[in-house]
Amino acid sequence: MLDHTQVTTPCYICDEQLLEKNLQLLDYVQKQSGVKVILALKGFAMWATFDLVSKYLKGCTASGLYEAKLAREEFCKHRLDAEVHTYSPAFKEDDIEEIASISDHIVFNSPNQLQLYYERVKKINPDISVSLRINPEYSESPVDIYNPCGVYSRLGTTLENFDEKVLEYIDGFNFHALCEQDVDALQNVLNAFERKFSRYFKDLKYINFGGGHHITKKGYDVEKLITIIQKFKQKYGVEVYLEPGEAVGWQSGVLLSTVLDVFHNGMDIAILDTSAEAHMPDTLAMPYRAEVRGAGKAGEKKYTYRLGGNTCLAGDIMGEYSFDTPLNIGDKIIFEDQIHYTFVKSTTFNGIKLPSLAIYRKNGSLDIIKEFNYEDYKNRLS
Ligand SMILES: *Cc1c(COP(=O)(O)O)cnc(C)c1O
Repeated sequence: MLDHTQVTTPCYICDEQLLEKNLQLLDYVQKQSGVKVILALKGFAMWATFDLVSKYLKGCTASGLYEAKLAREEFCKHRLDAEVHTYSPAFKEDDIEEIASISDHIVFNSPNQLQLYYERVKKINPDISVSLRINPEYSESPVDIYNPCGVYSRLGTTLENFDEKVLEYIDGFNFHALCEQDVDALQNVLNAFERKFSRYFKDLKYINFGGGHHITKKGYDVEKLITIIQKFKQKYGVEVYLEPGEAVGWQSGVLLSTVLDVFHNGMDIAILDTSAEAHMPDTLAMPYRAEVRGAGKAGEKKYTYRLGGNTCLAGDIMGEYSFDTPLNIGDKIIFEDQIHYTFVKSTTFNGIKLPSLAIYRKNGSLDIIKEFNYEDYKNRLS
């Protein structure tokens, strides 16, 4: 076990063994079903782990030029046959040529965008595979900000906006309509998608089922997913891709912080050297309650505290947690499952120090792979 008391905080610590467990399960799905799984960098982009990730996953999916460059530089060097897929709600003139030169697949959001860039992209990279993102107009996503199929959605092409003429130019369809969901939600999306678009599948080489598959969560029906993919591939004679982000980083590490002060104002309050707003933004945006190791809900254990961050934002609060013993200045607080959608979103809001990035190795050592300082704050201002 890692001795957390010796680590400088705040620090995100990715546990290599837990990450590999996720990768092995995803690889099992690949091997059993013939699907290709690629990493969505949006959710997990700790590139120091890509030597490990690339042993299992076939490439990366990027949401624009910078993620595509990161995939090309840091993933492809570990794996010669790695694929870089790049999608953007709208590509920019300034970026399109470089994106075309470093991507294996490019995914357009609309027939407009496809028409605008198709020839240039093919001229720069004749081998590039072109796809169109479809909006199947069906999603069971629990919250609006994570629902790509909501009303007035800008993500993907609806059947009404679909133009059969694009079939001449594309090799695939993409959809992305899930968020932390199980296999039944996928089946329902597929039903809607097939009902509307399956008549076009015969012209295609692949269908990309997007992300949001909670494959590595306990209780996910992995065998059912395998069956669905096998059947789909058989029925339509296409390749299938999955591009999870969250499922790769799911429960693969922590955010470690230190108690800076403790006092009472109507209730006991502890201030930590991290921030909900800057370092765990989804806890406020989604919102959700991060688990704290060894702690219960308010009142469950003897000593209850409101845990708050070290910015001046009044709402920079992680929540109320109870402990068996009183908290003291210098104690470590461990937030569980803080590897996906955390450091990829963290900010230097209020000049607060960015948490270091660390990898807890299988051999028991802790490698601090990145530390941040004042320059990181200053450099993004002027
Ligand atoms: C965000 C996103 C993903 C990854 O989603 P997860 O929920 O992290 O699995 C995959 N594809 C697209 C197009 C996305 O926008």
